[in-house]
Amino acid sequence: MNYTLRCRICKKQFDHDFFRCPACGGVLECDFDLSDQQHLRHVLQNARGFWDYSDFFPIRTDHIVSIGEGETPLVYAKNLCAELGMQGVYIKNEGQNPTGTFKDRPLSVGYTKAVELQAEATIIGSAGNAGAAAAAYAAASGIRCFVLLPEFTAMERVAQTLRYGAHAIKIRGNVSDCIDMLNTVCARRNWHNMSTAVPCNPFQAEGSKTIAYELARQLDWMTPDWVIIPIGGGGNLASIYKGYCDLKKLGLIDRVPKMVGVQEESCAAVAQAYAIHAAPDQIKRVENPSGVAVAIQDALPLDGSAALQAIYDSGGIAMSVSASQIADAQSLLGRTTGIFAEPASACTVAALTRLKGDGRILKTEKVVCLVTGNGLKDTGFAIAHSVAPDVVDMDEQALDRVIDRYISM
Ligand SMILES: *Cc1c(COP(=O)(O)O)cnc(C)c1O
Repeated sequence: MNYTLRCRICKKQFDHDFFRCPACGGVLECDFDLSDQQHLRHVLQNARGFWDYSDFFPIRTDHIVSIGEGETPLVYAKNLCAELGMQGVYIKNEGQNPTGTFKDRPLSVGYTKAVELQAEATIIGSAGNAGAAAAAYAAASGIRCFVLLPEFTAMERVAQTLRYGAHAIKIRGNVSDCIDMLNTVCARRNWHNMSTAVPCNPFQAEGSKTIAYELARQLDWMTPDWVIIPIGGGGNLASIYKGYCDLKKLGLIDRVPKMVGVQEESCAAVAQAYAIHAAPDQIKRVENPSGVAVAIQDALPLDGSAALQAIYDSGGIAMSVSASQIADAQSLLGRTTGIFAEPASACTVAALTRLKGDGRILKTEKVVCLVTGNGLKDTGFAIAHSVAPDVVDMDEQALDRVIDRYISM
């Protein structure tokens, strides 16, 4: 077997699968055996798709649940570099995943594990994107799926989940409340918790390490100076950092990048802890979270401690950006690269703009911004920041006048 589960609290190790430590109830983490270095280096160097990395997944079956996740493009952002006065900015576009966000990576692994463990049903708490991804992989695997969403989740975000055939239920609370709610349901009914946080499900998180593996190969084993990632629960950042540590242990890179975690000002538990140099286990729940970046509105980031530890260990930064900086960044990214990012993902470009402006990121440094989700996930936000186009009669001269006005602008 290629992994064991280790309890973060009592440190006991298990080679049977559990969701939480059977000895003390602590959070379990997957530890991989990386001793066959030559083979694993070969895997990382030659992978051409997400499931080529299965030696790094806690999976014992050949029956994988896949709908074409991962292996997303890395785009050199030439025009964005020019605008920012940078030389090496790259966008990793996770919006190209089957359901439009990186969540397809953890949920592909999560549902493969659910099939392997013969789950009767699955349930997830989500702000919308993880729920939609769970619904899609549940459909592909034929397992029933319940999705708990905050009451005020816009119907446009819920509809995707419903079209995939999952059962959506709204909860009068925020996304952290939704995740809290389902622990008792899982225990009583013996269902699988698919929420994308290690304390809920230690298996799914291993899927997101592949973002680091792909980045390393796509950049020809050059380590960027900075990788900028939005933080919701913090699991994605922690997992990508774990992936970079694997690459270093296997001798494929000689250093890890500095990790930047970005939140929105109105819901920034990790950034607030970082600002006062708090210990990773001292992150405080945000009361009444709000904001435009709904995909990262986690009042209590369940993987926040792992994310903050990764930020400290890598010499990185945790910070927050405002709603108007997010709107500006969405527009800047769109018009310089052709990549449409949802607000939670535009945060990364807002952060880069600020860090470059403050001189904390230098012109010559290499930076990857992770666009975690497609702008089409939140058309309401884009519409609210767009001016409605002119309407012209079927009259060429009238059309010319409007075109001339644009040209003279
Ligand atoms: C879930 C999500 C995030 C946050 O990921 P975490 O692992 O919860 O930190 C960021 N962006 C998008 C688009 C998401 O769907």
